[in-house]
Amino acid sequence: MCYAIPGKIEAFDNKLVVVDYFGEKRKAYNELDGLSIGDYIYAQGGYAIAKIPEDEAKSILAVWKETFFDLQEVDLKLSRLNLNQESVSKEFLRILDNAAEGRELSREDLRVLIKEKNKPALELLFKTANFLRQKHHKNSCCVHGIIEISNYCRCACAYCGIAEGNKQITRYRMSQKEILEAARQAIEEHGFKTLLLQSGEDSGYRIEELAEIVRQIKANWPALIFISFGEVGLDNLKLLYAAGARGLLLRFETSNPKLYKQVTAGKDLSSRIAHLKEAYALGYMIVTGSLIGLPQQSEEDILNDILLAKELHAEMYSFGPFISHPQTPFANNPSASAEIILKVIALTRIIDPAHAKILVTTALETINPDARREALLAGANSVMLNVTPVKYRPFYSIYPSRAHEKESIEVQIKDTIGLLMSLGRSPADLSV
Ligand code: SAH
Repeated sequence: MCYAIPGKIEAFDNKLVVVDYFGEKRKAYNELDGLSIGDYIYAQGGYAIAKIPEDEAKSILAVWKETFFDLQEVDLKLSRLNLNQESVSKEFLRILDNAAEGRELSREDLRVLIKEKNKPALELLFKTANFLRQKHHKNSCCVHGIIEISNYCRCACAYCGIAEGNKQITRYRMSQKEILEAARQAIEEHGFKTLLLQSGEDSGYRIEELAEIVRQIKANWPALIFISFGEVGLDNLKLLYAAGARGLLLRFETSNPKLYKQVTAGKDLSSRIAHLKEAYALGYMIVTGSLIGLPQQSEEDILNDILLAKELHAEMYSFGPFISHPQTPFANNPSASAEIILKVIALTRIIDPAHAKILVTTALETINPDARREALLAGANSVMLNVTPVKYRPFYSIYPSRAHEKESIEVQIKDTIGLLMSLGRSPADLSV
């Protein structure tokens, strides 16, 4: 199975290539040498990442052609919207109608949406978000792989199970060789086109080592590389970009500076924001968001989180529930509900309908196993599968009992593809 459909180059437009997928045109940035009109390529995350031989492309396309239009049809049916519902207040329907029509909602409107508790109203909110997702993104859904390369961390965040203060977990740090082998398997054997490398803020790797790992992956296999090593320093962001990293996943955790300081044992939010701004200026794709359900976090904070992520040019939004970890200072604080996360996903889609890729996080699936499906039907269009070697996975315990922790990558892929197909989504990521 592959996670991108081959496209045929139709034209060049400066640094962009125009690619045809069964008659639909999409654009992708091109950093590959030697491409010509008529060549077949894989594009991912808006980047051309590999040229593929014509024969191979044609045989893959022949398989896809049968399902491509069927899937679009299923998706279209599932995303129809009917806002004539008597059990929902006129005021709520008016706001959803404005959202569906693409009008900007006021802060007060967003407040009404996030505060809503009535089930039929929430169902409609989710459907409106799904309608907007389909309208702007059709049925494409990105499927990315994550390798958690180390659980060492110098930070003392009160919510996090791998924080420095947790002396009860086994620490691990994958060697360069192990990381390259995990990347090879994910790309070569399983067809991933985008890989995220993540770790705690680990002083055990020198920045040059991390850059070399990124360089080696890029030199050996076609893939888009995202990094998530925490605050590496502004200059080091530049170094990692030069090595070939093109995406940065860095949640700001909360947009409330006071709350941020409290939950991170005194760190300054401005430093994290500075990293996100610098990364954007350097050309990184920004993946950001926050932890929802932190103690003392208000609904206003959550609305600000979504707006801040947009302001920081999030290309992909990542909002997940806080899950209580027994070996942290927040052991006695309750985990967030799946419902609030679905609301945040739907609001994100409404606030940034045309642009946003919205991730279904593993944390959400951990609190509710059906939530991946629910989130994909509430505005989300991106999933991440864990391709960390199984033996290390239990130790990356940012929160306990993570979903899919014990599942082989083959099982995760099979289940994900099955789910996406049942929803009419094609596991492809083609838009700029
Ligand atoms: N060092 C990287 C990666 C940190 S782990 C960085 O700083 O970005 C990735 C994410 O896990 C964090 O951004 C945080 O939002 C999330 N996380 C940590 N503890 C959690 C918990 N108890 N429940 C849910 N998510 C948690």
